[in-house]
Amino acid sequence: MSREALTSAKTVPVLLPLALPAPYDYLVPEGKELHPGDFVVVPLGPALRMGVVWHESSGKSVDPAKLRAIESHFDDVPPLPEISLKFCDWVANYTLTPPGMVLRMMMSASKAFEPPAIRFGVRAGGPEPERMTSARARVLEAASSGMIFKKSELAEMAGVSGGVIDGLVNTGTLLQEVLPDPWEASFDLTGENVELSDLQSGAAKELCANTENGFVVTLLDGVTGSGKTEVYFEAIAQALKTGGQALVLMPEIALTGQFIDRCERRFGAKPAEWHSGMTSNMRGRVWRAVANGQAKFVVGARSALFLPFPDLRLIVVDEEHDQGYKQEDRVTYQARDMAVLRGNLGKCPVVLSSATPSIESIVNVEAGRYRHIKLESRYAQATLPEIEAIDMRKSPPERGRWLAPPLVNAIEETLEDGQQALLFLNRRGYAPLTLCRNCGYRFECPNCSAWLVEHRFRRRLECHHCGTFLPVPDECPQCGAEDSLTPCGPGVERIDEEIAERFPEARRIILSSDQLTGIEELRRTLREIEAGEADIIIGTQLVAKGHHFPGLALVGVVDGDLGLTQADPRAAERTFQLLSQVTGRAGREAIKGKGLIQTYMPEHPVIQALVESDRDAFLAREIESRRDAEMPPFGRLASILVSSSLRDRAETFARDVARAAPPANKIEVLGPAEAPLAVIRGRYRYRLLVKAAREADLQNYIRLWLQNAPKPRADLRLVVDIDPYSF
Ligand code: ADP
Ligand code: ZN
Repeated sequence: MSREALTSAKTVPVLLPLALPAPYDYLVPEGKELHPGDFVVVPLGPALRMGVVWHESSGKSVDPAKLRAIESHFDDVPPLPEISLKFCDWVANYTLTPPGMVLRMMMSASKAFEPPAIRFGVRAGGPEPERMTSARARVLEAASSGMIFKKSELAEMAGVSGGVIDGLVNTGTLLQEVLPDPWEASFDLTGENVELSDLQSGAAKELCANTENGFVVTLLDGVTGSGKTEVYFEAIAQALKTGGQALVLMPEIALTGQFIDRCERRFGAKPAEWHSGMTSNMRGRVWRAVANGQAKFVVGARSALFLPFPDLRLIVVDEEHDQGYKQEDRVTYQARDMAVLRGNLGKCPVVLSSATPSIESIVNVEAGRYRHIKLESRYAQATLPEIEAIDMRKSPPERGRWLAPPLVNAIEETLEDGQQALLFLNRRGYAPLTLCRNCGYRFECPNCSAWLVEHRFRRRLECHHCGTFLPVPDECPQCGAEDSLTPCGPGVERIDEEIAERFPEARRIILSSDQLTGIEELRRTLREIEAGEADIIIGTQLVAKGHHFPGLALVGVVDGDLGLTQADPRAAERTFQLLSQVTGRAGREAIKGKGLIQTYMPEHPVIQALVESDRDAFLAREIESRRDAEMPPFGRLASILVSSSLRDRAETFARDVARAAPPANKIEVLGPAEAPLAVIRGRYRYRLLVKAAREADLQNYIRLWLQNAPKPRADLRLVVDIDPYSF
C-alpha cells in the first residue's frame, strides 16, 4: 500500500484479552465493515489473537507504517453489545485492572467461538435398569437436570466412564435425541398459579413499581422464610413480559439447583444457568444464547454479571450480604457493587435481597440512595425460630465431647418428634490442629502460615490454603513418640463421630465441600435432606445459605464464638449474618423452629442481638462504630498486597512502594505489615492499606502512585484490591 492509501485506510481499536493498558489500532481490510463489539482475529507479535473491536481508541497516534491489518472476523458469533464494552471499561477503571483482563472474563466461554456442537441429547425416560448401581443413579440424576449433554459431558458430570452411559443406552433407559435448549421453552408469565399473602403482594406491588422503569436500587429486606423470592419473581415476570432479559445472581452455586426447580414451578420453564460447575459446551451455548437475546432469564454465580446481555431489564442479587460475591483472585471485584454499577450504566433496575443486609446497603438506604421494602414476618403459619444461647461455662460438655447437655437433650427431643436437627460448625475436617502430647510438636503447613487439618475420612493431614497433605503418621516426627499425636478441637467430622456415638440410630449427613465430589452430588444431597432422608445434618457454611428444609426444627451452632475472636472489624457483622442465616433454616413451615448457640461469651453484643432478635439495634451500633472510625462505607479502603517467595524481597519491595506514596489530602497509607495470612503457598505476603475519605478519588490516587512507584520484578507480585472484604 502507498503511504497515502495507508493514512486514508480505516483503522479500528481492538482490545485483546490480555493485561494491556488499552486497545491497539488495526487496519480494517478493504471492503470490510466492522462495528464495536465484533470479535476479530489480529496479529500480535508473531502470534494471532482473538480480540474485540472496541468503542473507544486509546487516543494515542500510531505511526501508520507500523499498523497491521485485522486478520479475520467471527461473523457467526454474536458481537459484544455496546453496554458490555462500557461496563468492561468501568469495571477496569474501578478495580484498577487492565481492561483486557475484564474482557477476558467476559469471553470466558471458549466454546462460544467454535461452531455449535451438534446437539446430541441424552435424557432419562426409558425403563429403569434391572440393576441400579450408584454410578447409574448418578448418570440418571445428571441427565434429568434437563441440560443437553454430549455423551462425554454426561460422563464428566456424573463422574463415570463412557461405558456406564453406553450400558444405559443399551437398556433403553437413556434416550438419545436432539433436545431443545431449556431456555427455548416459553415462560408462563400469567402468574395464575401464584397466590401471594397480603404482606407479599403489597411488597410485590411496590417492587414492581420501583423496577418498572430504569435504574433504581431496591433493598428487599425480609426475615428468613418471608418469601422474598416469591416477591421478586413478580418483578422478574414484569421484566420478561416486556421482552427484556432478567438475571438473578446467587452467592453460591450450591443454591442454584433448588432455585432452578423453584423457577420452573413458578414460570413453567427453566432459566439458563451459569456457573463454574458447568461443562464448557454448556457454557458456550448459554453465552451465545445470552448474547443473541434468546436466553431471557439467567440464574448464575457472580460471573454471570459479565455475560453479554444486550437487553437486561432486571438484576436481582440474592443474599446480597454474602461474602461469596467478592472475587479475590485475578480481577478482584465485589459482584453486588458491580451489579449496581451495571444497572446504572444500562438503566436497569437492581434488587438486593437479604434477611441480613450488609451494612453498606443499610447505609445506602438511610442516605436515600436505595429504596427499602421490608417483610417482617414469615410466610403462612411459619414463625421465626426462638434463639437461645447455651453458656458453655455453666453447662460444659463432657471431657472429649463438644456438645453441651442442653443441646444433646434438644437433639434427642427433636428426633423423638420425628423432626430434623442441623448442627453447624464452620470447620471442615476432623480436627483443626494436631499436636504431640509428648514434645508439643504441632503439624504446620510447610508452605503456609497455617496448621494442617486432620481429615479422618481421607486419613490425612491437609492444608486448607495450598492443598498440601500428608498421611497421618504413627509417630511424632520430632520426638519419635508413638501414639502421642492428639487431635485438638473439632471439625464437622468429629461432631459427626460424636453424633454417631450418641444417636446410633439416626441417619446422618455431613454437608461440607470435602464430602462432595461435585455440584450434582451436592444437589442430590440437598434434595435428600429436603425429602426428609436424614435426621441429623452436620454442616459447614454450605448449610447456612438460603436452603429450605421443610422438616428442620432445630439448629445447633457448635461454636458461636468462632468468628468473633478475629481481629477483622467486619467480624461482628459477618458472624451475625452467618448465625442469623443458619438458625433461620429452622421452622420454615408448620414446625416451630429453635436455634441453640453454644458460646463462652453469651454477653457478647452479637450473641445478644441474636437471642433478643434485635437486628436493627445491632446494626445501628455497628454503623455508629464504622462512622466513628471512618471505616467503610463512611470511608474508603483499598489494600495493596505484595508477595514473593523471599521474605526480604517482599518486605523491601513493600517498603519501597510505600515510600513512593505521594502525600494527599484525606488519603492515608498504612503499613506495610504482614498480611493476615503471612505466608501462602510459600509466598510471603505484606499488605499496605489505603484509607481515604468517601469523597477522595481513591482509584486515581493509587493509579498515579503506582505509575511512579518501583515495578514488581523477578517473582514479586503486587495486587490491588479496592474495597477489600476483610480489613
Ligand atoms: P426467603 O427467601 O424470604 O427466605 P422463600 O421465598 O424461600 O423465603 O419462601 C419460604 C418458603 O415459603 C418457600 O418454601 C416458599 O415456597 C414458601 N412460600 C413463600 N411465599 C409463598 C406463597 N405466596 N405461596 C406459596 N408458597 C410460598
Ligand atoms: Zn499450605
